[in-house]
Amino acid sequence: MMLPKLREEVYKLHLELPRHQLVVWTMGNLSARDPDSGLIVIKPSGVRYEALSPANMVIVDLDGKVVEGALKPSSDTASHCYIYRHMPHVNGVVHTHSRYATAFAALGQPIPCFLTGMADEFGGPIPCGGFALIGGEEIGREVVRVLTGSKSPACIMQNHGVFTVGKSAEAAVKAAVMAEDSAATSWYALQLGTPIPISDENLEKLHLRYTTVYGQ
Ligand SMILES: [Zn+2]
Repeated sequence: MMLPKLREEVYKLHLELPRHQLVVWTMGNLSARDPDSGLIVIKPSGVRYEALSPANMVIVDLDGKVVEGALKPSSDTASHCYIYRHMPHVNGVVHTHSRYATAFAALGQPIPCFLTGMADEFGGPIPCGGFALIGGEEIGREVVRVLTGSKSPACIMQNHGVFTVGKSAEAAVKAAVMAEDSAATSWYALQLGTPIPISDENLEKLHLRYTTVYGQ
């Protein structure tokens, strides 16, 4: 079997999605790119999370053609591949319909940034892309358009849900968890009154500190 370690990693990261309540039933998916071969490991289409295993992950090439796997790959495969082809620094892509973030997507509005923790992770609001149909690479094209030049590793897609990218699949999963947490807090704050915005200058300082100084 090809790419056994990456299969295992992608399988294990899939389990984080229901664990963090980012997905229900078979919804959502994630993929990782093997930087050496350029091949992509992705979730099989329409399979419940409890039934996933390292062995039933699907390996596709950068054009979405199945290289190894008995099952059909995710219906978002063409969009994942489009993102990998156009964002060479990205090696992980996650898609969810997580509840709070997707509520903003229903309005076609960016997720506003009112808190330092969100400024750390995303550098400001989480941008919202336009409407795109599922199945082809239209979603991927819109994700690339919205995230290119943005500090945010996450965007929401109008009427749909969340897409995140990362230099690894784990980083993309982290962005998906943080995006939902940020969306929930912003939503609660909006119920309480009028949240206080953070100035652009402070957004920049917060993001710079977090991405250069924070951590070990
Ligand atoms: Zn979706």
